[in-house]
Amino acid sequence: MASVQINNLRKEYPNGVVALHDVSLTVEDGEFYVLVGPSGCGKSTLLRMIAGLEEITSGDILIDGVRINDVPPKDRDVAMVFQNYALYPHMTVFGNMSFALKHRKIPKDEIRQRVEAAAEILELGEYLDRKPRALSGGQRQRVAVGRAMVRDPNVFLFDEPLSNLDAKLRLQMRVEISRLHKKLKTTMIYVTHDQIEAMTMGTRIVVLKSGIVQQVDTPHNLYKNPANQFVAGFIGSPAMNFFEGALDDEQTFVSPGLKCKLPESIALLFGDLPGRRGVVGVRPEHIYDPAEAGNKDVASEIGVTIDVVEPVGADAYIYFYIGDSYCCMRVGADTEHRPGDPIQVCFDAGEIKLFHPDTGDAVTSA
Ligand code: ADP
Repeated sequence: MASVQINNLRKEYPNGVVALHDVSLTVEDGEFYVLVGPSGCGKSTLLRMIAGLEEITSGDILIDGVRINDVPPKDRDVAMVFQNYALYPHMTVFGNMSFALKHRKIPKDEIRQRVEAAAEILELGEYLDRKPRALSGGQRQRVAVGRAMVRDPNVFLFDEPLSNLDAKLRLQMRVEISRLHKKLKTTMIYVTHDQIEAMTMGTRIVVLKSGIVQQVDTPHNLYKNPANQFVAGFIGSPAMNFFEGALDDEQTFVSPGLKCKLPESIALLFGDLPGRRGVVGVRPEHIYDPAEAGNKDVASEIGVTIDVVEPVGADAYIYFYIGDSYCCMRVGADTEHRPGDPIQVCFDAGEIKLFHPDTGDAVTSA
């Protein structure tokens, strides 16, 4: 068990690409810490630097308070599970899981004990004599996790370990890894580009963009209180709808195709914005058919024409344009709306977000 501290970390590759700019983070002992962001944002680079697989341009990495910048990877007491977790095909599950330990000249009895303990937790006990080709995809992935577990590391590093699995298996492994974390209580740092994976697994999540930390928070707070428009758009599926416009003298937000009376609490915030301009954000689940909004406090009704209706099991997503903004609204699966139908929609006034028109930072009253 260990904490990981990252201070002012910078990574510039020899070709001049700056993958990380001045990143500072603290991973507490026992946390399930997720690094999430779009492809190329620097998350793998950061993980590989913690593992010691990538040189540090400047800044420090500390594990349990000890600076490890110059400690070779094998002495860092971290174990990494990769996306391409190639197992040795000619070795059994036992052989694969024990390989690193044999290399470290750990006594045979202890190796057997560690492999069997990990296999039991991962429900691989009856497969120890099998070769990888005789295992399912999920079992192979578990062997890859087991290979890291037997090393009994202070920190587990996962680099997109589920991206090669099909959707159903990914879901199952997501639950298994979360369960494993609860059981082992070891610090885990997990990289993914998939915000749903991040939201369901992480105790805390770091959102990265272009090598810069955007927000570090719990899944709930990232969703409820995004620090900026990027986080608001990245977390949540389907994504938040955005409207660029300005507040007129009547406290009405005007954007192409949209005139919407905003609640007083949001309208007041425009006072500090240049030219009373701003970006209003509303999640698909906070747009309603006025008839179904119940006693929600709603902003003015807007007439739209449905473009697409997408049933997704328990819900359906209805897409339409408001001005230039292509919007999504979440409704119940039993909706009778069809493409081409004109409908009225309204926003849940209490859930409207506001962002700075130039910086994208969230504008709040707090
Ligand atoms: P992510 O894991 O978020 O997809 P990476 O950490 O792999 O992103 O990459 C971050 C940035 O650094 C990208 O622009 C990528 O092209 C660049 N990069 C990654 N590895 C190297 C390398 N070995 N040499 C040069 N540039 C690299």
